[in-house]
Amino acid sequence: MQSPEPAIRLRSSARTSTGQKRENNEDHIHLKTGDNFVLAMVADGMGGAAAGEEASRIAVETVRDGISMPNSATGGDADSAPITEQLRDAFQVANLEIVRKAISSPEMRGMGTTLTVVMLRGTYATFAHVGDSRAYLVHDNDLNIVQITSDHTFVQALVLAGHLPPEQAEDHPMGNVLYRALGQAEQVEVDVYFKRLRAGDRLVLCSDGLTRHVKPNEIAGLVLSHSDPDSASQALIDLANARGGEDNISVIVIAVEGNPDAVFQQDDEVDEAPTLVLKQNPFRRRQAATEELNSVEPVVPDRAEGEGDSRSEGRDARIPEQ
Ligand code: CA
Repeated sequence: MQSPEPAIRLRSSARTSTGQKRENNEDHIHLKTGDNFVLAMVADGMGGAAAGEEASRIAVETVRDGISMPNSATGGDADSAPITEQLRDAFQVANLEIVRKAISSPEMRGMGTTLTVVMLRGTYATFAHVGDSRAYLVHDNDLNIVQITSDHTFVQALVLAGHLPPEQAEDHPMGNVLYRALGQAEQVEVDVYFKRLRAGDRLVLCSDGLTRHVKPNEIAGLVLSHSDPDSASQALIDLANARGGEDNISVIVIAVEGNPDAVFQQDDEVDEAPTLVLKQNPFRRRQAATEELNSVEPVVPDRAEGEGDSRSEGRDARIPEQ
């Protein structure tokens, strides 16, 4: 007997581009899809050309290998705790791998990477995140776009602490300076978020090579105007490149679609359960951000800031200690 079709169909597309200014691509992406699940990752390496590539590669491959894939359609099974633990553990392993690599290969000293991951099972999305690559949720009914992840940049920490108006965060000269990345210390704090999605939603994971050129409302407009995730991801890459392509650009688009063959009505499948965010509350987060500002040696990522910004300069640049 044929089993009922799941009420949700997931379609996805991943692309990465070196951009217009860089000679190599330090981003690594990964997309694995199966019966009603998607595992997607974006990592943006830093620390010099070879080191950045290596850091993001280690991160993506280690987490990929550390996550057990669902065996069958599990759309209705919100088994989020185990996947949360798997993601946290895999991030720690990846972090240690990068730290060890930097110790064993002195030429890679200072290597690090961002890592933003979503594990989507049916309509249940679990995100894990370190750095400033982003995950966005776009709703098709109200054209709303929400940034799921919080950038681990000094500028964002200042905004969260109330020391910098959000409107001044954009285009801030220190906007690309991270206070948290994989490869920075022997332990890494991982932000984990949990979201219940609806048919019509889109998820976008991206590196900062996209967001430095394409605003969130433009991302929303593009992914909603292309019903096919493959053409949506291409349109986003093309727009970033058309606007200068200053950095490597990585984009993953996931579309959550109602399955017209489903035996259940969509409304029966997706309830109005409020979003559960498994992270520190805002107050504690502000404290944490301030503590980290005072205690953690910052990493200055190797970001394209124009032609004068050499890779070796990026590796060694530091903010003065307080
Ligand atoms: Ca980048």
